[in-house]
Amino acid sequence: MTSKILQIENLTVSFDGFKALNNLNFTMDTGELRVIIGPNGAGKTTFLDVITGKVQPTQGRVLFKGRNVRRLSEDKIARLGIGRKFQTPRVYLNLTVRENLDLVCNRHKNVFSTLWGHASVSEQRTVTGLLETIGLVAKADLQADLLSHGEKQRLEIGMLVAQSPDLLLVDEPVAGLTDEETENIGDLLLALAKSHSIIVIEHDMEFVRQIARKVTVLHEGSVLYEGSIEDVQNDPRVIEVYLGRPPSINADQMKMLRIVAAMAWSDGNLAREEADLIISQFSKLFSSEIEEQEKLQAELKDYLVQNVPIDELVSQIESPEERELILKLGYEVISVSSRNPNEPNINEEETIAYKRLVKLFNLPEEVVKRLEVETGE
Ligand code: ADP
Ligand code: MG
Repeated sequence: MTSKILQIENLTVSFDGFKALNNLNFTMDTGELRVIIGPNGAGKTTFLDVITGKVQPTQGRVLFKGRNVRRLSEDKIARLGIGRKFQTPRVYLNLTVRENLDLVCNRHKNVFSTLWGHASVSEQRTVTGLLETIGLVAKADLQADLLSHGEKQRLEIGMLVAQSPDLLLVDEPVAGLTDEETENIGDLLLALAKSHSIIVIEHDMEFVRQIARKVTVLHEGSVLYEGSIEDVQNDPRVIEVYLGRPPSINADQMKMLRIVAAMAWSDGNLAREEADLIISQFSKLFSSEIEEQEKLQAELKDYLVQNVPIDELVSQIESPEERELILKLGYEVISVSSRNPNEPNINEEETIAYKRLVKLFNLPEEVVKRLEVETGE
């Protein structure tokens, strides 16, 4: 027995000479939750297509639980224990949540016998367990049609899990979801990861942060980088290919952004209004053209996704003007929550982080006062 659920060796897939996958090597342990990211066209979907037998490799091989899946049909591979969740939910919209799950828990029956037959006790137990896992107990008897997009995604994940796959492949599960639904999907995948091997293809960096243990970055059909999410986000090659270009802000600008973001992150959470404020202020600071600012906003979002230690960065900011600017923005960021009537107080961790920043910058007291008054206006 091998402890590798998946071993992929020198895999190449050519479409009329174009290599969608190019000599790709990849291994994954049983029980692992792996996230695969990469820019559009990197080969992510093709990668899943080869694993599931939808596309045959030109060269190389895929071993699933040590077994070469070459020339096996998609059905056969699915029966070996690979379940794939496509980007758009594939659930029966006119059946209830429970009926959808009954269908897969009871595969030899068709839609009609699921509707009018009755499920055995053990099947019911499985369905109840699944409903709990996917958090849809309260909506079990609701027609799937009436679920939110995120709930449909969870239902489909539940339907996949019902087939007890050893390896779950999930393609961009949070595209188009609200923040709350995204978090629910993340929690669900983390719960499933306790008993399944899972590959998630994802674009949303915030989500990747929520679930990621180990991240593989694909680029031009090969593995560009593998590591923790922190390593991945700091690797300049990854930043360059992931955004399709080198960062369009310079190293100094990046440092300023990171320091202010650290204020927002200091309570362990980057609130939506904090992120919005940082992105909007910095895009205006870095560019005076509206069009350019809009482009920057999308890009800057990717740089906010971590809480970096700032002492080192702070010591590198020497100009008093830049220090003042950072402090001012930092103060604005920690103040943003105080404008929320439901949460009138600036939170304590952020206040502490801000006071620390004041100390590190060592600006004259009257300057600090002036900046704070200006921000309050
Ligand atoms: P990703 O999912 O990372 O965006 P894909 O795996 O969909 O990337 O595609 C990788 C590359 O292979 C792209 O350049 C795409 O145009 C090309 N490609 C994918 N499928 C086919 C196909 N059936 N025929 C020709 N080219 C394809
Ligand atoms: Mg794709």
